[in-house]
Amino acid sequence: MLSSFFSPKLCPMNKQKTDYDIIVIGGGPAGIMAAGQAALSDKRVLLVEKMERLGRKLRITGKGRCNLTNDTTIDEFMRHFGKNGRFLKPAFYNFFVSDLRKLLDQNGIATMVERGSRVFPVCESAPRVADALSNWLKKTGAETSFNTRVTGLLIEDSAIRGITVNRHGKTGQLTAQSVILCTGGKSYPRTGSTGDGYTLAKEAGHSIKPVRPALIPLVTDGDTAVRLQGLSLRNVTASLWVDNKKQAEELGEMLFTHFGLSGPLILTLSGQAVDALENKSAVQIVIDLKPGLDHQKLDARLLRDFSEHAKQQYHTLLHSLLPGKLIPVCIAETGIPKDKIVGQINAKERQCLRNWLKDFRFTVTGYRPIEEAIISAGGIDTKEVQSKTMESRIVKNLYFAGEVLDIDADTGGYNLQAAFSTGFLAGVSV
Ligand SMILES: Cc1cc2nc3c(=O)[nH]c(=O)nc-3n(C[C@H](O)[C@H](O)[C@H](O)COP(=O)(O)OP(=O)(O)OC[C@H]3O[C@@H](n4cnc5c(N)ncnc54)[C@H](O)[C@@H]3O)c2cc1C
Repeated sequence: MLSSFFSPKLCPMNKQKTDYDIIVIGGGPAGIMAAGQAALSDKRVLLVEKMERLGRKLRITGKGRCNLTNDTTIDEFMRHFGKNGRFLKPAFYNFFVSDLRKLLDQNGIATMVERGSRVFPVCESAPRVADALSNWLKKTGAETSFNTRVTGLLIEDSAIRGITVNRHGKTGQLTAQSVILCTGGKSYPRTGSTGDGYTLAKEAGHSIKPVRPALIPLVTDGDTAVRLQGLSLRNVTASLWVDNKKQAEELGEMLFTHFGLSGPLILTLSGQAVDALENKSAVQIVIDLKPGLDHQKLDARLLRDFSEHAKQQYHTLLHSLLPGKLIPVCIAETGIPKDKIVGQINAKERQCLRNWLKDFRFTVTGYRPIEEAIISAGGIDTKEVQSKTMESRIVKNLYFAGEVLDIDADTGGYNLQAAFSTGFLAGVSV
């Protein structure tokens, strides 16, 4: 028994044989919510976290501003989770956007809605959100044990009995009537999410869908991206081409880096790109630098510019069309000499420029490692989990919540809401 360093409190009215009624593994958004909700129903709850504090990943979300959720409908939410979206329906019905905003508001975190219906805290501070939730958890009466790593699940007769842990090199066991596993994914391991939950669930008999990075920057061929490193483009479209077929298209903001392409647009397309690369398909990203103009309108615009600036050199004219960093790349890729007088550019060359502006193409050769992903795709197969309670279909009284499950969505606050909603449902179901 670990009682020596945990001293679990036994409720005199309800002396149980177990150390706790409920043990929650992992103190991210899913675990905090699950533990808090369970404790609110007068259960003896222990949240076990291997790091020194709660919500290490939550504290760096949304570039430190924390995109908490998205002010949209349940149907729209489910759409952003792709084929596993329906699994989340009961969780969203039980605890959705307004519930989360209300809970945060009651705990001193007012929220606001920004572009794309993204919900942020008014204080624009992810650490303050994590602190507010930690304080709320304390008030619910749940206990916490930090620097404690769960190393195994105790299972007897297909039912959970407790956990094994390691704390400062000491090992031991803790018993409980129910366990909620909320260990997150495998990305940003320095936050504590190292994929332990996949091993624990697998040992309990669960199937794990291959874990791979999603919302991940893409690595491209050649040195074009490197030359454009640091350049960010807004209001462009990027489309994903797989084996010469257009598979998806997004409008927004992107960034060139020393290895390839990043930014919200690319992250959104990355899940499909990773899957295609894994299938050994040819993957390309095509950037449309002038998405507001179709070929005909763009040609009319170029004709007008060419006649207005007929005496200028080609590279000077390009300043009215492109950010400075893109100009040398445009000159190299269109093959039109930089000092050519605009009035002398012929129709074929103009067509070449127009095509390049609408079709700036990169061959994708890979993706950054899962450690750099915003989210892990794959995880515990949702078919083996009851969507109405989050309970395992394999081990009685074992529950799951958050990113450890095979659920992942686009950027926009969907992933945090899913962690909170599944955590809530598991917490009230136990
Ligand atoms: C840089 C970055 C920015 C992001 N920004 C956003 C955003 O703005 N909006 C959004 O919706 N999503 C965002 N996400 C995704 C979001 O943070 C995650 O989906 C979410 O944190 C998942 O919550 P979780 O509780 O399931 O897991 P986690 O937050 O990963 O928490 C899991 C916890 O379990 C603990 N743990 C793991 N193994 C053990 C073990 N063996 N024993 C004990 N404890 C263990 C970990 O230490 C960790 O504290 C971002 C992710 C990253 C990496």
